[in-house]
Amino acid sequence: MPNTWFSKSLIIAGPCSVESESQIVATAQALARIPEVKLLRGGIWKPRTRPDAFEGRGEEGLAWLREAKQESGLPTITEVATPNHIELAMKYDVDALWIGARTVVNPFSVQQLADAMRGSEVPVFIKNPVSPDLRLWIGTFERFQKAGVKTLAAIHRGFSYYKESPYRNFPLWEIPIELTRQLAVPLITDVSHICGNRELLLPTAQKALDLATDGLMIECHIHPDDALTDAKQQITPDELKEMMAALAFRSKHSNGVARDLAELRGEIDDIDGELLQLLARRMEVSAQIGEYKKRNNVTVVQLDRWKQILADHIETGHDLGLTAELIKEVFEAIHQASIERQRHIMEDE
Ligand code: PEP
Ligand code: MN
Repeated sequence: MPNTWFSKSLIIAGPCSVESESQIVATAQALARIPEVKLLRGGIWKPRTRPDAFEGRGEEGLAWLREAKQESGLPTITEVATPNHIELAMKYDVDALWIGARTVVNPFSVQQLADAMRGSEVPVFIKNPVSPDLRLWIGTFERFQKAGVKTLAAIHRGFSYYKESPYRNFPLWEIPIELTRQLAVPLITDVSHICGNRELLLPTAQKALDLATDGLMIECHIHPDDALTDAKQQITPDELKEMMAALAFRSKHSNGVARDLAELRGEIDDIDGELLQLLARRMEVSAQIGEYKKRNNVTVVQLDRWKQILADHIETGHDLGLTAELIKEVFEAIHQASIERQRHIMEDE
């Protein structure tokens, strides 16, 4: 992978499918004017649910994709699902490949692709499988690693999910986060296939950036409404430009950033110190109450009092902008520790 691809967030943009020479060349030229865009996507073989749908232009499309690369200067990436696709993509100078969500679910297909890529320098981006199965995703990386493919990256495109949701593919953010904890690979978020519609793209992309993604894949088409595939989720290059301006790109490397982060962290350390002192004082007072209860033969747990405390704190917390969940979790833990302490006092003769 060229080092510059990940020097900032890697933005991959381009149409769901390469449809015609003019469509891909015009889209690529417009995208090349957006400085954040580093890689041009274009689907050549489209995995479709129904047999009569548009299945991509095949080899003819690869010639147009190569022309779009020459005209725009953008390197290209396309989806491959068979060894023959890999061979053809290489013949037409495609710069990087991605393995689609439907292919990743099939270990036989994945192994064939890994064998066909043996020792290759070409970067391979691996989408998550359609099902929320982290091990299957990781297994795909392992098959490519064993085949000596060194440059690998992950693409999070969401999961088929049984619950109703506004997303086309439910994000389940914890899965890609766990993937990057277990494997040191860059992570791209394919917001287009997660969202399935234009409206959700911006907030979802921001969430991905906030969670420290390494880049975004966004489907862009010169005339999105006329797109032959995924029309509802594609945006124009102009809309992408606006989106780039609206997004807050965060720094992943906290030690290199501004001095005010050090100051803020100092403040957090001071507050934590105060919290610890207060907690110790509270436990001390609780121990004195324990002594009183023992002398007067009163039970440790006083349910009414506890319910009252919790209700009061939730109300005060609400006024302070703290959620009921947080207040409950924190005070239940404190109350539990306090009960333990008083129980020990009761037991001691
Ligand atoms: C695509 O990127 O156009 C595509 C088919 O994606 P996925 O494999 O994530 O469904
Ligand atoms: Mn698509």
